[in-house]
Amino acid sequence: MAAKARIASSSRSIQIAACEARAPPESEISMLKSIIYRMPSGEPERKRLTIPEQKQPGVPERKRFSMKDVLLWADGEPPKPGPRRIGIHTSTAGGVEMAAERAYRLGANTFQIFSSSPRQWKPYPLAQAQCDALRGLREKYGIGPMAIHSSYLVNLASATAEFHRKSVIAFRGELQRALALSAEFLVLHPGSFRGRSREEGLELVARSIAEAAEGLELEKSNLRVLIENTAGAEFSLGGSFDQVGQLLEYLRPVCPVGACIDTCHTHVSGYDIVSEAGWHETVQKLEETIGLRNVMAWHCNDAKDPRGSRRDRHEHVGKGTIGLDAFRRLLNDPRTEHAAFIAETPIDEPGDDLQNIATLKSLVDVVTAPPKRKRA
Ligand SMILES: [Zn+2]
Ligand SMILES: [Zn+2]
Repeated sequence: MAAKARIASSSRSIQIAACEARAPPESEISMLKSIIYRMPSGEPERKRLTIPEQKQPGVPERKRFSMKDVLLWADGEPPKPGPRRIGIHTSTAGGVEMAAERAYRLGANTFQIFSSSPRQWKPYPLAQAQCDALRGLREKYGIGPMAIHSSYLVNLASATAEFHRKSVIAFRGELQRALALSAEFLVLHPGSFRGRSREEGLELVARSIAEAAEGLELEKSNLRVLIENTAGAEFSLGGSFDQVGQLLEYLRPVCPVGACIDTCHTHVSGYDIVSEAGWHETVQKLEETIGLRNVMAWHCNDAKDPRGSRRDRHEHVGKGTIGLDAFRRLLNDPRTEHAAFIAETPIDEPGDDLQNIATLKSLVDVVTAPPKRKRA
């Protein structure tokens, strides 16, 4: 079903067609109004919000709008992006193109999405009009790169033949949708090698990506597969920089590749990024195994759990066991200048996404030009 959400850019107001969303009950509407009036941005009396009238049968879950959705409360001029590419994983509720509108309203100049439900094998249909609309909004707002995060179901190292086959087919679908949406990055967790050796697992992932990408023109479309480091749970591939580096070596002849380094995963898998000495040592290790120039994206997540715990629970930037200093060092290292910094932080309260982006932006040192010398 093609999305019907319309964006009236002149008035900066948003109308959400009734057929695309559930109607919040009366109690939710009044709560929503109170949220709107609490938000500091914009002038409340200019706000125009069209609440969908009625629930339409057959509208899938993802079409529902959350009360925490920036589209429901933000108005006026969004915050300005800074000198780095900073953004957040963004909802596609209402149609994939709405993610770009959300990113813009959050003051982001890069973002990440799921191109389908991350927990279902059957992909959502993607209309050409939606792909065009997404591209158009990204151009209009100057937002990029766009990353797509692969489905959590995909395990290209699976020892179960049927599961492995399904994964290869699903990953090919991910690549095709990424091409259709003109994404720059497709982020992949390398998978679980249970039932094999780790080495066999890594080789199989590389062969499976080659199979899934066969005949697709990634290079021509500027699409790159990014291998993400993981929290290092038992049997999970990619729990160390060495493993990610090795996989990149295998993949170089296959397709354009790079790495996505998740700060939470790095921390809980055991690397020290908190102390200053630890940070430098960890970055040195990263340079030797993957190469900082190959890290195209950083997932900027703080962690709820301690270093080495291997538990993957993301926390708001600066509120977890990592803390602000690590993010400050990351964002101001000249060797990471080319990368996109994308939070995958929870939205517990409306505005949390805005806040995490604002926090990351605030950590970037503003380089001021040296004062001009006075003429003698
Ligand atoms: Zn991540
Ligand atoms: Zn994670």
